[in-house]
Amino acid sequence: MQLLTKPNIDKLSSKRISKEEALDIYKNADLFELGEWANNIRKKHHPDTKPVTFIIDRNINYTNVCDAACRFCAFAFWPGDKRGYINSYETIYEKTKELVDLGGTQLLLQGGHNPELKIEYYIDLFQRLKKDFPGVTLHALSPSEIDHICRVSALDTQTVLKRLIEAGLNSIPGGGAEILVDRVRNIISPLKIKSDRWLNVMEEAHRAGLKTTATMMYGHVETLEERIEHMDRIRQLQDKTGGFTAFISWTFQKENNPLGREIEKSATSLEYLKTLALSRIYLDNIVNFQSSWVTQGIQIGQVALTFGANDMGGTMLEENVVSAAGTLCKTTIKEIIHAIHSTGKDAAQRDTQYKVLKVISCK
Ligand code: SF4
Repeated sequence: MQLLTKPNIDKLSSKRISKEEALDIYKNADLFELGEWANNIRKKHHPDTKPVTFIIDRNINYTNVCDAACRFCAFAFWPGDKRGYINSYETIYEKTKELVDLGGTQLLLQGGHNPELKIEYYIDLFQRLKKDFPGVTLHALSPSEIDHICRVSALDTQTVLKRLIEAGLNSIPGGGAEILVDRVRNIISPLKIKSDRWLNVMEEAHRAGLKTTATMMYGHVETLEERIEHMDRIRQLQDKTGGFTAFISWTFQKENNPLGREIEKSATSLEYLKTLALSRIYLDNIVNFQSSWVTQGIQIGQVALTFGANDMGGTMLEENVVSAAGTLCKTTIKEIIHAIHSTGKDAAQRDTQYKVLKVISCK
């Protein structure tokens, strides 16, 4: 029988860790030592540990029509399905106005790969939004949507990015990364872009001057080695461009999707905390890490702040669940501030680039 030896954290923490070391740490390190190590790295990036940041944002899904058919998606409908929609500008305007009225600064615009929408739709949408709401940051279109626009508009990536930036695009969310290993992508989202293309769009975006985030959705069919490979590919690109502002990871949600019916067990909270801490340690070149309180619940979301996270993310309101004007939004903002305050920290409202706009003291 092989005896497990605990990794030597004192020795490992003085250097950048390798993929093999990351695997060993994940399997054998003590949970609380791992958390402390991740938290020390957080302190290096954020010496003032008192504020925990959050952003007031709103998520608008401009269309639910999509020809990617990802097996974990509970949102999209195939082109031609009667349940498909494209939001009118009037609808998007009203939702954005509610965001602005609540002091929000970021509009997260994401949608399906709708074959009807060519680049002109996005240019028109961004120009109108910027004219009506010049102060709102357009954090929009994940790499797979950018790739889709390139294909349906028969344009290259650089041209698409250039034209979208001219129209008002400010930054790109890291959605659609899932796990950047093609074996995994071929199982969970076979029609969506492969790993190299996701990274290529991000690299082009960084070179065009945009900042973006990086994400990871895990706890489905990937192995631990593949989870670490994902982190490694993000770390390599960040070394090259420095364009990622944050790393955001969450566990796969089993409800209402075909993949969920095949997965026996969801990732546990323990697995979440270990993965968060490991990603903070591995991705030594990324400054901000979000706590995934939306998928983990508010309590684990608070604990995550001692496992390397420094940010509570956004109010991220899914439009489909917001019924009366802004009601849920107000509740969510209060909930986030209360959750931060109850850990003894100050709640700091930030913008998309993590610049603090306002501090709400916990005293
Ligand atoms: S690309 Fe996005 S919207 Fe389309 S099926 Fe996949 S997850 Fe759903």
